Amino acid sequence: MIHLHGTQAIAFRVLVVDRETIQRVIVARCVEMLGWKADTAANLDEATDKFSIRPHDVVVIDLDLGHRDCTHLLRYLRHARADPSVIFISGSAQGSQADSPRTARDLGLRVAGTLCRPIDPYRLHALLLSNPLRPRTDKALAASYPNAQDLDQALRDDEIHTEYQPKTDLITGEIVGVEALARWHSPTLGVIGPNLFVPIAEQSNLINRLTFRVLEDAIMACRRWREIRPNCSVSVNISPRMLASPGLLRMVDAILNQNRMPPGALIAEITETTLLANLPAATETLTRLSIKGVRVSMDGFGTGYSSLASLLRMPFAELKIDRSFIGVCRTDPEAWKLIRATVSLARAIGTNVVAEGIETEDISDRLRDAGCDLGQGWYFGRPMQHDAMLRWLTPGNTSAAAHERQREPLVMAK
Ligand code: C2E
Ligand code: MG
Repeated sequence: MIHLHGTQAIAFRVLVVDRETIQRVIVARCVEMLGWKADTAANLDEATDKFSIRPHDVVVIDLDLGHRDCTHLLRYLRHARADPSVIFISGSAQGSQADSPRTARDLGLRVAGTLCRPIDPYRLHALLLSNPLRPRTDKALAASYPNAQDLDQALRDDEIHTEYQPKTDLITGEIVGVEALARWHSPTLGVIGPNLFVPIAEQSNLINRLTFRVLEDAIMACRRWREIRPNCSVSVNISPRMLASPGLLRMVDAILNQNRMPPGALIAEITETTLLANLPAATETLTRLSIKGVRVSMDGFGTGYSSLASLLRMPFAELKIDRSFIGVCRTDPEAWKLIRATVSLARAIGTNVVAEGIETEDISDRLRDAGCDLGQGWYFGRPMQHDAMLRWLTPGNTSAAAHERQREPLVMAK
């Protein structure tokens, strides 16, 4: 949900300061779910460096940073005069009585509240949205943000397109599936990424039309790819808002039937962070999808707190490890442990593991050796148009593959 000031949508910027990689990623992903921007810092120095480059509207601080570092950071924020709101994260319920929130208040900083681990994304959203946030003084930036009316018009004017990114078998190097990713080609604002407009769609009930559009594109494109690669599947990201409505099942049925495509060609990706807050409704819809034969994938794995029980209750065919862990897997032992543990868990419950965000050959090799089944990322190919994907899937067409690897990434709204 992007914060609305009048009719204007504004994305706020949040700095997440936490020593632990996994915690930083979880909070940052929760922030991005609102369509806001998140920066992260692992310690005091990184935090002050990042804040000095671009002041943030909200700073989320882990109390495990220790009272001394927390106090330094709070003093810094006070003197920076940027007037951010502060949210504390605590390992225990006693955290709310800890010294640092009191120090922050004494310094005159706005304290939105303290959250305990494990973080409930919806409580974090409530704290983020409860802040008396001010419209950005940067009018040019604010004016460049679209709103729900713009998106509604864009859907009517056919400005929403779907791009496709390959999923590759890490052992054979073969493309076994493709993920569909929505793009908004606005004639006035340029190419807008889904992190910006999907939250607007969710907030304004346009998510049904957006999902229909992407599903239809994806299934039609996949039908053509399967003439060359009969087992090729297409993955579509499904918003948690859609899981609560019976319309999703009807929509999936109608589009598959219209295109005479088997349900097994479709993979529905659900993001872990959003899933857990809607567990009962989501479990039912996902189970019904999987009974039909549609495979279900848990996206952004590692960014929520799925219990083994919830993983066993849900019909997951695939766990996709969040790209924040993949990029740092060589240097961050915590991220590497999470990857190894995910592979073991996936083996135990009989699902595939996909590593997303692979940007280099050595990371690809490392993940293959660790037991990941599939990989996705710029190293294999950037998101591309469906005809480019078709050319790439055509046997022997290596020049198409080389070209698509080098394409520039999406610029806006990342
Ligand atoms: P996601 O499902 O995790 O999709 C993967 C994202 O990672 C895509 O960003 C992709 O472009 C990016 N990516 C892929 N490889 C690499 C890499 O090697 N390095 C880096 N840094 N990034 C890489 P994109 O397209 O901006 O999508 C962002 C998110 O928006 C998606 O994350 C998904 O959650 C959501 N989204 C995209 N399309 C739709 C849609 O049609 N419906 C819904 N509900 N959500 C969508
Ligand atoms: Mg996805």
